[in-house]
Amino acid sequence: MRYQHQYTDGTPIHFPLGKVVCVGRNYAEHAKELNNEVPTEPLLFIKPGSCVVPMLEHISIPKDRGAVHYEAEIAVLIGKPLAPNPSEAEVIDAISGLAPALDLTLRDLQDSLKKQGYPWERAKAFDGACVLAPFVNADMADFTNLAIRLWQNNELRQDGNSSQMLNPIVPLLQHIAGEFKLLPGDVILTGTPKGVGALAVGDVLCVQLEQGALFTCDVI
Ligand code: ZN
Repeated sequence: MRYQHQYTDGTPIHFPLGKVVCVGRNYAEHAKELNNEVPTEPLLFIKPGSCVVPMLEHISIPKDRGAVHYEAEIAVLIGKPLAPNPSEAEVIDAISGLAPALDLTLRDLQDSLKKQGYPWERAKAFDGACVLAPFVNADMADFTNLAIRLWQNNELRQDGNSSQMLNPIVPLLQHIAGEFKLLPGDVILTGTPKGVGALAVGDVLCVQLEQGALFTCDVI
């Protein structure tokens, strides 16, 4: 399914899909559950646009590469170019939308890559590894207090809030802009709260950002 950024009312957002910049271990409790140290600066990696799929009725996972974990995350859509050292106001002005997203991860493969000191791309950038729901306008958002929730088969598995982030959204984007040029259509995945786990074919997932729409999909 070809991906196109859109708002929840179905209005297309005419930015080209760019890169997806992700941050690992941005919630201390999640770092702990995977026995990882809490990093002293944001741990960044990139998913290519090619792995992005829309959050529709079904999401497809790899069947033959070990455990596939869900990670519910707050996705931030960039709407204006951000050069290095943007002010807080410039970052806020550049944010066009917010959405719930899934950072799908081949956890067994990631563990083995980590042990060997290799890059994570094969575990994080496979086709379909980034699932994006439609965006809501971010104009009135309080970036320091946004809930993100995920249910797996009607069980609440993740119940986080951006207030728990080690690097809150605006300073995180300031930092990322110093590392990578950010362009309209790029997306930032801001890390996952505790409660990640393995997916199985037949699971029904439900995600919600703040008090917004519930997005439901089943795993095939
Ligand atoms: Zn993640």
